[in-house]
Amino acid sequence: MPEQEDRQKFVYDFTEGNKDLKDLLGGKGANLAEMTNLGLPVPPGFTITTEACKVYLDSGSEPAALCDEVSAHLDALERRMGKRLGQADDPLLVSVRSGAKFSMPGMMDTVLNIGLSDESVAGLAAQADDWRFAWDSYRRLIQMFGKTVLDVDGDLFESALEDAKHAKGAATDVDLDAADLEQLVTRFKEIVAKETGRDFPQDPREQMDLAVRAVFDSWNTERAKLYRRQERIPGDLGTAVNICSMVFGNLGPDSGTGVAFTRDPASGQQGVYGDYLQNAQGEDVVAGIRNTVPLADLESLDKPSYDQLMQIMETLETHYKDLCDIEFTIERGKLWMLQTRVGKRTAGAAFRIATQLVDQGLIDEAEALQRVNGAQLAQLMFPRFDDAATGGAATGSGTTGGGAGGAGGKGAKPLGRGIAASPGAAVGKAVFDSYTAVKWSRSGEKVILIRRETNPDDLNGMIAAEAILTSRGGKTSHAAVVARGMGKTCVCGAEELEVDTKRRRMTAPGGTVVEEGDTVSIDGSSGKICLGEVPVVPSPVVEYFEGRTHAGADDADDLVKAVHRIMAYADRMRRLRVRANADNAEDASRARRFGAQGIGLCRTEHMFLGERRELVERLILADTEDEREEALGALLPLQKADFIELFESMDGLPVTVRLLDPPLHEFLPDITELSVRVALAESRKDHNENDLRLLQAVHKLHEQNPMLGLRGVRLGLVIPGLFTMQVRAIAEAAAARIEAKGDPRAEIMIPLVGTVQELELVREDAERVLAEVREATGADLKLALGTMIELPRAALTAGQIAEAAEFFSFGTNDLTQTVWGFSRDDVEASFFTAYLEKGIFGVSPFETIDKDGVGTLVRDAVTAGRATRPDLKLGVCGEHGGDPESVHFFHEVGLDYVSCSPFRIPVARLEAGRAAARSKGSDSR
Ligand code: PEP
Ligand code: MG
Repeated sequence: MPEQEDRQKFVYDFTEGNKDLKDLLGGKGANLAEMTNLGLPVPPGFTITTEACKVYLDSGSEPAALCDEVSAHLDALERRMGKRLGQADDPLLVSVRSGAKFSMPGMMDTVLNIGLSDESVAGLAAQADDWRFAWDSYRRLIQMFGKTVLDVDGDLFESALEDAKHAKGAATDVDLDAADLEQLVTRFKEIVAKETGRDFPQDPREQMDLAVRAVFDSWNTERAKLYRRQERIPGDLGTAVNICSMVFGNLGPDSGTGVAFTRDPASGQQGVYGDYLQNAQGEDVVAGIRNTVPLADLESLDKPSYDQLMQIMETLETHYKDLCDIEFTIERGKLWMLQTRVGKRTAGAAFRIATQLVDQGLIDEAEALQRVNGAQLAQLMFPRFDDAATGGAATGSGTTGGGAGGAGGKGAKPLGRGIAASPGAAVGKAVFDSYTAVKWSRSGEKVILIRRETNPDDLNGMIAAEAILTSRGGKTSHAAVVARGMGKTCVCGAEELEVDTKRRRMTAPGGTVVEEGDTVSIDGSSGKICLGEVPVVPSPVVEYFEGRTHAGADDADDLVKAVHRIMAYADRMRRLRVRANADNAEDASRARRFGAQGIGLCRTEHMFLGERRELVERLILADTEDEREEALGALLPLQKADFIELFESMDGLPVTVRLLDPPLHEFLPDITELSVRVALAESRKDHNENDLRLLQAVHKLHEQNPMLGLRGVRLGLVIPGLFTMQVRAIAEAAAARIEAKGDPRAEIMIPLVGTVQELELVREDAERVLAEVREATGADLKLALGTMIELPRAALTAGQIAEAAEFFSFGTNDLTQTVWGFSRDDVEASFFTAYLEKGIFGVSPFETIDKDGVGTLVRDAVTAGRATRPDLKLGVCGEHGGDPESVHFFHEVGLDYVSCSPFRIPVARLEAGRAAARSKGSDSR
């Protein structure tokens, strides 16, 4: 489409863009333009748009108009700067940087000093009156260009640099003089020629064009593609390219380069945070090749630049209304801004900063909710290493610091740091295989399973361990995925630790050896690993939710105060109600303290375990009506007592009781154990009649795949009296509470319904029982009866099912299993890692609702259900009810409530508030 292409503008000067043009100019380009327009000292330059990249990616060549447009902008830049790109006696030099809408690992690094050549290096030296600087700039260009544009192995340059330092006996690159660097340039050019079969390009425009093309190409590196698939970033967005006139931080001690934050990204405190490195360029600050100084030291090194920087930081914060991070360079006493963006921060800082900005009048409550998220709140709720015992470093942010340092209780020694894969802090004895993990944990030891990496064979060990530590693999490794699924602490990819499973030991970089049985401590929120016991303390935020500390107290932690305020904003804003999945009074009370507005799922099967299992056995083994009645009669008062307790702890709030769901074999002894017992007894001619009957029942009820057999409503329909007994227990308990002047709000929920006929039959029986209890007690019982929607057929026929149901609760655990055909117990450990690595999904559909598949069924069932019964109450009680992204989905499709485990209630409240604030924001736009 050449015509359309002609009309399109592919290049924007920094003066032409603004921060809202991220789609077109990428994040970096949009912010450079914004700073330029704010009048801040940004070196002049221009941005090639993502549209140009898209044309290149689609057609394999740059848009026809691009070359001329770049020439026109380059011309203007040259006129403004009074020198031409690569001009022999006074060269204009530029940097070329990629900059997509979202920052993405795997994209091309920056190339600096474009425009230098064998000829212009002399011009640069003359202008700067500094040969050392000129050769240093040239060798940096060849190194960066060689590596990122010409694909030469970067180690070749690094080792040539090391050789040069070694030959000179120099400690750092600053100790190399002009002659050393000139020699290094020759060596680097030889490397380029040998590796690429061509000389390093001497034409400055060719250098620039090749670098631009390399940025376009880097959109499709394997790493970038994988990241996009996992993060659901569309593959056709393309990247922008920023071309910026060079300023130099390596012109001597009055020059330098630095990074700064407008607030502390670890605590949120306002102040001077960042690092500065004199006489340095580009990535030197973060590369750790020389020691940086704290930003505050710049005040004594260069007061005017420091003062100006402080002023700019204030301007940026007020303008962006958020913490900004900044890259800057000082060239011979003149300050230049090279980049800014809204900065990353720790979870605690996010909450503090959001409330500080409200107090400063920069943002309102709804905006404050967008500045935090449920994942951050969840992080703040895990137990952690005790700061006091570890000198304050154990829970440090890791944003500006790094390395293993810091953590270590009195007797504990830091060993290193891995990837924080699943939060929480754990202490236990080191074990190096699954078998030992299981064996030791059975004898009461707390163990930490340490492996190079885990695979499905390690599952039992992972279940037995307190936490998992691996030396390989990232956030989607088997260990990380399975640990998160289990809610277990995990640090993975601690590559500096050498794990030797054969010799059952692990060696840390300093030579410290951890043997099997040694105590280790790991923190899955920070990735820290220590030898010895680091004290673990409960989170102050949980102490607050538990009501053990108060946000209003004088000595209240400022994090707690911030969380308290944000939760109040969320509660004021949200439409979704939040209930708990709880089946005992203790969980119910905690849920209430955490803000639950009722129980959305009481799983009654948990009430049939322990000593009561035998009563269920009797029910299963009953041959006659009388035996069955007797077993049910024994269960009835126990169930009733359970419910009375539960209704009392949730007095005045709804309690949804689900009738029995799991297959009966779960209440019977293990088939293998029982077979062995019977066989042994037989061999001794010592028959036990009950064991024999049990074994027959176990065989009869044994299911290969317990997900889809005799369970849920099917049990209620084929085991006479079972559901009737449960309904009676609920009704009598409610009547007892009314009698005691309580306010029970019980709801009866039928699991695994696939067709309205099933529900009608249960309903008929339940109504008869309710009438009987009303009659017998005189209580004015109003009990709603509804169903779970957890089978595809139920969702597809929701309109019919709503005729017999007063409420639906989406059972998204089973719905995910049945829609995908996944048995959760089998798939997570066996192949989810591969699926995540291949980018088939970015997150397990058991963690975050699969909107396209499972979500479509939920959405359609909501519409159909409400069409039949406009006042149908709608909720969700699968695990997704406490997952941040899923909560937003449930808000959007119009559910009335989400229900989740007690510990996730604050997260669900917060996300429900965020979802409401966001949809209000988009309505008013
Ligand atoms: C569900 O299936 O989502 C559900 C809540 O039920 P359970 O997890 O008990 O099967
Ligand atoms: Mg279910």
